[in-house]
Amino acid sequence: MHEWSDAHLMVREAVRQFIDKEIKPNLEELEHGDTPPYDTLRKFFKSFGMDVMARENALSQIKREKEAAEAVARGETPPEKEPGGLAGMGGGEAAGLAMIPIIELCRYCPGMVTAMGVSMGLTTAAIMSKGTIAQKERWGVDLATMDKIGSWAITEPDSGSDAFGSMKSTARRDGDEYILNGSKTFITNGPYADTIVFICKLDEGNPPKDRKVLTFVLDSGMPGLEQSKPLRKMGMHSSPTGQLFLTDVRVGRDRLLGETEDVPARSGAKDTFSMERSGVAAMALGIVSQCLDLSVEYAKTRIQFGKPIGEFQLIQLKLAKMEVARLNLTNLVFRQLEMQAAGKNLTLAEASASKLYAAQTAMDVTVEAVQLFGGNGYMAEYQVEQLCRDAKVLQIYGGTDEIQVSQIARDLLADK
Ligand SMILES: Cc1cc2nc3c(=O)[nH]c(=O)nc-3n(C[C@H](O)[C@H](O)[C@H](O)COP(=O)(O)OP(=O)(O)OC[C@H]3O[C@@H](n4cnc5c(N)ncnc54)[C@H](O)[C@@H]3O)c2cc1C
Repeated sequence: MHEWSDAHLMVREAVRQFIDKEIKPNLEELEHGDTPPYDTLRKFFKSFGMDVMARENALSQIKREKEAAEAVARGETPPEKEPGGLAGMGGGEAAGLAMIPIIELCRYCPGMVTAMGVSMGLTTAAIMSKGTIAQKERWGVDLATMDKIGSWAITEPDSGSDAFGSMKSTARRDGDEYILNGSKTFITNGPYADTIVFICKLDEGNPPKDRKVLTFVLDSGMPGLEQSKPLRKMGMHSSPTGQLFLTDVRVGRDRLLGETEDVPARSGAKDTFSMERSGVAAMALGIVSQCLDLSVEYAKTRIQFGKPIGEFQLIQLKLAKMEVARLNLTNLVFRQLEMQAAGKNLTLAEASASKLYAAQTAMDVTVEAVQLFGGNGYMAEYQVEQLCRDAKVLQIYGGTDEIQVSQIARDLLADK
C-alpha cells in the first residue's frame, strides 16, 4: 500500500465534514471546558454507522465462539480462531477505514482519540479477547459500540513503568468471592467509566513478587469503588483522566476475567501494551499533518523584513523536516495496515519502535511549529499551542520513551 484508496479518501472527506460541523465549533469547550467527549464520540459513531458495525462484529464473534464451544462439547474439532489484536480488525482496506478517523480527529482533538482508544480499544479488547462468552455478552458488546464507556486500570501511585513489579492493589479470596483493595491513578475515562478493567495481584500471604496477576471487571457505583473527578493536566483536555479507589470491593468469580485465576494476565496486559503502542503512529500522523498544514499557511502569509517568512531558509528547514516526518509516519501507518491485511500483528518490540519514533516525532514537530509561529505559537488562540501540549503525553503513556528503548534493546540483544 503506498497511498489511500478512493474509498479511504471518501471516508476522510466525510470525517472532515463531521469535524467541521460538530467538533470545530465546540473545540474550545471540549479542550478547555468540562464537557466530556463521549456524546460527540457517540454522535460520530452513529453518523458513520460504526455503532451498528461494532455491535454486529462483537455479536458475530460471540456467536462463532459459542459454536466452537458447542463443537468441542460434541467432541468435534472447532473451526480455527480468527486472529486477535490489530490483525483481527479486518484486511487493509477495512483497517484503513478504521484508521482514518484516528488520524483526522487527532488534527483537532487527540484527547478524544485517547478517550475512544482506551474505551473501545483497550478495555473492549481486554474483555473480548480474554473474557468468557458470558462476560463478552455482559460487557463487551456495549463497550464496543460506546454505549458504555470503559477504563483500563493498571497504573498506581507507586507503580508506573514497573507496572507489575511494584503493584500494590490486591484481591483476597473470601469463600467463592474476592475482596479487592487498592488505588489506581492517571486512568483515562476513570471519572466517567461505566465499566472498569482492574488489574491487581492475588494476595495469598506470599511475597508480592510471587503473586499471580488477576484482572477483574467492575461496574461504576459498586460499593467501595470511588471514581475521582478529572485531574488537571497539561494537555489532552478532551480526554478525562482520573483516580480509582477501591476499599473492600466484594466481587464474585463472574467478574474475574476469563473466570479463572490461570488466565495469563501479564501476557494479556502485554497484548494491550502492543495495541496501545501501535495506535500512536496514526495519532502522531494526525498531529504532524495538521502542524504542517498550519505552518505552511503561516509561512506564506506572515510577513517579516518585507517578505513571507517562508522565504527564510531556517523556516524552510522546519517545513522540510515536518514533511519528512509526515512521510515517515505515513509509511509506518501503511506498514501496519499491510500487516493487518496479511493477518499479522506487530511484535511488542516493533510496536515499541514505532511508538518511540512516532511520539518523539510528534513532539519535535509540534515544538518546531510553535517556534515557526513565533509569539502567536505560544498563544492558545493558535492551534499549534494545543497540539504541542497534547503531543507530550505520547512520550509518556503506553510506556514512556525510556521504556520503549529498553524494550527494543532487550529484543535486539535476546538470544534468538
Ligand atoms: C494522560 C495520561 C493518561 C493515562 N492513561 C492511563 C490509563 O488509561 N491506564 C493506565 O493504567 N495508565 C494510564 N496512564 C499512566 C501511564 O501509562 C504512566 O504514566 C506511564 O506508564 C509512566 O509511569 P509513571 O508515570 O509512574 O512514571 P515512572 O515510571 O515513575 O517514570 C518516571 C521516569 O523514570 C523513567 N524510568 C522508569 N523506569 C525506567 C527504566 N527502567 N529505565 C529508564 N528510565 C526509567 C521513566 O521513563 C520516566 O521518565 C496515563 C498517563 C497519562 C499521563
